[in-house]
Amino acid sequence: MTERISEEDLASLPFRNMSLGVEERVEDLLERLTLEEKFRLSVGVKAFFTRPIKRLGIPNFRMCDGPHGIGPHSTNNLESTYFPTGICRTATWNPEMAEDFGVALAQEIREIGYHMSLGPGINIIRSPLCGRNFEYQTEDPYLNKIMATNIVKGLQSQRIAACVKHYVCNNQETNRHTVSCEVSERALQEIYLPAFEATVREADAWSFMTCYNKVNGTYGCENKNLIKERLRNEWGFRGFVVTDWFATKWSESTEKATNAGLSLEMPTAIKYKKTLLRRIFNEGKFTEDTLNENIRRLLRVMFLVGLFDDESTLPKGSRNTPEHQAVARKIAEEGIVLLKNEGNVLPLDVNKLSKIAIIGANASKKSSMGGGSSQVLPPYEITPLQGLEKKCKGKVDIITNPSEADIAIIFAGLNHKPEMDCEATDRKIFELPADQIELINKTVQENSKTIVVLISGSPIGMNGWLDNIPVLIEAWYPGMEGGNAITDILFGDVNPSGKLPMTFPKTLSDSPAHKSTRTFPGDDNVFYDEGIFVGYRHFDTNSIEPLFPFGYGLSYTTFKYEDIKISPENISNDEKFTVSVNITNSGERTGAEIVQLYVQDIEASVERPLKELKRFKKIRLKPGETKKITFELEKNDLSFFDEKNNCWVAEKGIFNILVGSSSRDIRKQGKIKYS
Ligand code: BGC
Repeated sequence: MTERISEEDLASLPFRNMSLGVEERVEDLLERLTLEEKFRLSVGVKAFFTRPIKRLGIPNFRMCDGPHGIGPHSTNNLESTYFPTGICRTATWNPEMAEDFGVALAQEIREIGYHMSLGPGINIIRSPLCGRNFEYQTEDPYLNKIMATNIVKGLQSQRIAACVKHYVCNNQETNRHTVSCEVSERALQEIYLPAFEATVREADAWSFMTCYNKVNGTYGCENKNLIKERLRNEWGFRGFVVTDWFATKWSESTEKATNAGLSLEMPTAIKYKKTLLRRIFNEGKFTEDTLNENIRRLLRVMFLVGLFDDESTLPKGSRNTPEHQAVARKIAEEGIVLLKNEGNVLPLDVNKLSKIAIIGANASKKSSMGGGSSQVLPPYEITPLQGLEKKCKGKVDIITNPSEADIAIIFAGLNHKPEMDCEATDRKIFELPADQIELINKTVQENSKTIVVLISGSPIGMNGWLDNIPVLIEAWYPGMEGGNAITDILFGDVNPSGKLPMTFPKTLSDSPAHKSTRTFPGDDNVFYDEGIFVGYRHFDTNSIEPLFPFGYGLSYTTFKYEDIKISPENISNDEKFTVSVNITNSGERTGAEIVQLYVQDIEASVERPLKELKRFKKIRLKPGETKKITFELEKNDLSFFDEKNNCWVAEKGIFNILVGSSSRDIRKQGKIKYS
């Protein structure tokens, strides 16, 4: 049974027969594995691979970081497309961008002969200070879910596995290996889990990576409740669960992990050392059935990505192509957010300028190789300065002295260094570094037309300078084509259409996670005392004025909202209702609007947020053009999680339906009665 089988004989075995179904092939291969081989398949090798089983011709299954391009550390320094980071992608509010990104990334992964992307990273943005906010998506569970499911669909359409991470409540980097996130069931259900759940139920995600931290006292990688009960049994996950890298160094025990449903320990054996597995198995601490189920899932994904199929039948790979670079540029163009444009300083007109002053450390800084495991090594990266130089060449002089320029542009923000948007650390200060504030204020004194462009992946405090400047752009980390995209926005070749996927607070203490050190960053425990009141749910419900609200972003045109219709106005049981509204581009430029629909429960037996995002749609309109958009909603969109009865409940009564341009700019509203 354990002798090496010749390739000729292997080729005739059922698991190699492509005309059989996946499950039949999985069972055939599983039956051929010895106990020792199953142990061997449970751990990684070479940092990003599973171990091969030569006897059966099982090659390595290969994984690579990460959430916005292939990480060179997982591929021996291969170059690849550097896409805008997760927060920029989410600021597009365009599910198509998420899917296009997923497809393009999968093609790159296929081209290098790998099989799984260690992403998307979809932890909720709970605090402005979390060091990985730039990799993640949003503070809102619905926006999170729409973008996440589309990435997963995009990736897996190319038969490359998504690995949705970090499951769950990895909302800070401080003490990430040991902290226990103490979170209520209602907050899990309403805020932290929905996007994870949707990637399974709606997009059939093939893999999940567990978090480093504990959730309510139990580490993610050995959390039976999270893995076995919810992910597998409730949501119907058919894929496998992998640890975050080295997470098992801190976790409790081997049997806790096997019994929880952990298939793969990465990057190397710690809790899943062969000797340990063997001993504990012999002591009866886990059964072969349990092990089989863990391994079956890993094998299933190997079949799904085509590891045992004729290569000519698999989707084709490609890397560093103009098409992928165009996807990167498009995401940046749609994700960059115009936050302030007093006196319509923007868009700039290249024919009316003679000198532009470009200053700030981020003007010529490349961001691709920073921030931690999500770093990407692109063949080139257009910095903001390079983008502007190209546009201005032969027309406008680029100088550094603002007092001699028609306008000044400062590239400020963070830089992916520790405590500045970087994995393994959280930010310590919410405001910009003092020298940058000084630079901004000095510049604006010399030139009142000072534009600040922020390069950052999380909200930044703007006390003491925002009021002094006329223009502010949040450019995030806009990927390898970022400099071109920023330039196109500054000059109006692209009309900005991104909106904030999270609230920018005025001061850190306004933020719900920052009531005390107990709530952030905690110590052994961090207490999610704010419950479901994360992000705008907190600001709105408690009437706290944000600096910039969730869903906010300006355009060079304007949009008019008219004729809201809700039909029917009464529903019961599982009946659906539609909400339609007419949107007109009332300005002079073609542009895109992100129409947002929020639900407000007027009276409830439990505390509910003032409003919750339930639908959105990004539409492009020419000047004067009107489009009717229609949303379909149902009971689930009115529901909350009832902790007493452990289920979702829609209570009878009236709900307001709010439709607007941001969470704080509701343009039309109506009512629906649930009875
Ligand atoms: C990160 C993961 C990453 C892994 C592999 C970990 O430190 O938390 O997100 O995928 O390393 O590089």
